[in-house]
Amino acid sequence: MTVRCPTCKAPVVWKDHPYRPFCSERCRLADLGRWFREDYRLPAEEDESGDAPDPELFQ
Ligand SMILES: [Zn+2]
Repeated sequence: MTVRCPTCKAPVVWKDHPYRPFCSERCRLADLGRWFREDYRLPAEEDESGDAPDPELFQ
C-alpha cells in the first residue's frame, strides 16, 4: 500500500514508514509549519476586518 505525501505528493510506502503519511521528516515539519502559520494568521485577519469590537461582548 502506498499513499501520497501531503506536502510534496510523492508516493510513500505506508508499511513501517517512520514519517507516514509524509515521505520524510522534512515534509512532515513543513506541513506542521503550514498549520502553525494558518493558526497564527487567523487573529490578525479578524483584527483587520473588524472595525470595532462588539459592544455586547463587554457588558
Ligand atoms: Zn514529501
